[in-house]
Amino acid sequence: MSRCLAERSIDHVLLERGEVAQSWRTERWDSLRLLTPNWQSRLPGFSYAGSDPDGYRTLPEIVAFISGYAKSISAPVRTHTTVTSVRSDGAGYLVRTDRGDWRCRGIVIASGACNIARIPRFAAHVPPSVAALTAQSYRNPGQVADGGVLVVGASSSGTQIAHELQRAGRQVTLAVGEHIRAPRMYRGKDLEWWMDAAGVLDERCDQVDDIARARRVPSLQLAGTPDRSTLDLNTLSDIGVRLVGRLAGITDDGKAQFAGSLRNMCALSDLKMGRLLDLIDEWARANGLDEQTEPPQRLPPTRVEETPPLGMDLASGEIKTIIWATGYRPDYSWLEVPVLDRKGLLRHDGGVVAAPGLYLMGGVFLRRRKSTLIDGAGDDARDLSAHLASYLDGHLARLTA
Ligand SMILES: Cc1cc2nc3c(=O)[nH]c(=O)nc-3n(C[C@H](O)[C@H](O)[C@H](O)COP(=O)(O)OP(=O)(O)OC[C@H]3O[C@@H](n4cnc5c(N)ncnc54)[C@H](O)[C@@H]3O)c2cc1C
Repeated sequence: MSRCLAERSIDHVLLERGEVAQSWRTERWDSLRLLTPNWQSRLPGFSYAGSDPDGYRTLPEIVAFISGYAKSISAPVRTHTTVTSVRSDGAGYLVRTDRGDWRCRGIVIASGACNIARIPRFAAHVPPSVAALTAQSYRNPGQVADGGVLVVGASSSGTQIAHELQRAGRQVTLAVGEHIRAPRMYRGKDLEWWMDAAGVLDERCDQVDDIARARRVPSLQLAGTPDRSTLDLNTLSDIGVRLVGRLAGITDDGKAQFAGSLRNMCALSDLKMGRLLDLIDEWARANGLDEQTEPPQRLPPTRVEETPPLGMDLASGEIKTIIWATGYRPDYSWLEVPVLDRKGLLRHDGGVVAAPGLYLMGGVFLRRRKSTLIDGAGDDARDLSAHLASYLDGHLARLTA
């Protein structure tokens, strides 16, 4: 957004409470790699020119990439400046920070969609003998006591953490709710390549039937490993992870209750994966790629044990650690403009917030499916900076009329 505003000569400043790329520096596990290939993180004026376009950036590489981009565009960043409140002040907004106040006509809220780990209310009933972590506070297996681990959530974060911990010698149980299975490689190419080429990631928010639902859909079960292997529930079963149904509740005395829907959840996920691959096959055929790529293939169905356990006594000592990989939510506790809905989410139309001169970036499916990804920021910033520019022009016209 800064690059797009600069192109339009719009005077602006970026307020950042930590360092550039703060969330990658402080809120991710050590072994994380981007699940999107290097070529895919395109930003305005930047595309990957290194020697490993199909690789997946490690955490230090992600930090270097984002910091390098900020430097290359001379982004006017004020680091170590926390925004403590934003309120309307007639002509625009008053922004209070721990380093002084700012007045401005427009604001782009780019404070992230994943500030706080989303944890169910019944987490309060986890017995004190069980250590609790989240996908945001988990760093590496060294932090996790020997013995059993219950990982809750089987999307991208949960499956990666479960895989790492089981391989490090813990006995992992994975509670599986709705999830989206996906092969890392398909017909010889990265799945992200297919989704990008076939336009799946460009699908706009006004093209889906139920955008509220689309914004709640969990992330693809993908991991960016050097060997490009698929990480799905079968991979996890193969190394000894035990699969149970969605964690539906925990009783006052610490008994975990798992939903009986594991088989259905897995069948549904297999079905959705099949639909995505059908769509890709259709696109490949229509675009003459059938001859140049490997033939279509399907993964075997997800294996589920005959009668997975429906309960577990968390106080029995079997489970030493529980890791909540149940998603994230944004934190707008500092926003004093009445634009939040009942769930504390911003009311917006493709990033245009329901208050003059206020915009949102970085939200899940904000304008397009790819808005969730680094790669989606460019198109969203181009659109929203155009909207902001015409808002500022109108504002100026009103002042001079
Ligand atoms: C575990 C995980 C893995 C992911 N993997 C991928 C991937 O492989 N590929 C991909 O493309 N995307 C991935 N994403 C999504 C990716 O994080 C987003 O696309 C991207 O980071 C969004 O950038 P952002 O600048 O909008 O938000 P953030 O990176 O969250 O940045 C928001 C910034 O705002 C600052 N901030 C917040 N509140 C305040 C305040 N009050 N005052 C001042 N500053 C504040 C924060 O310190 C932070 O630096 C992943 C996300 C997560 C959580």
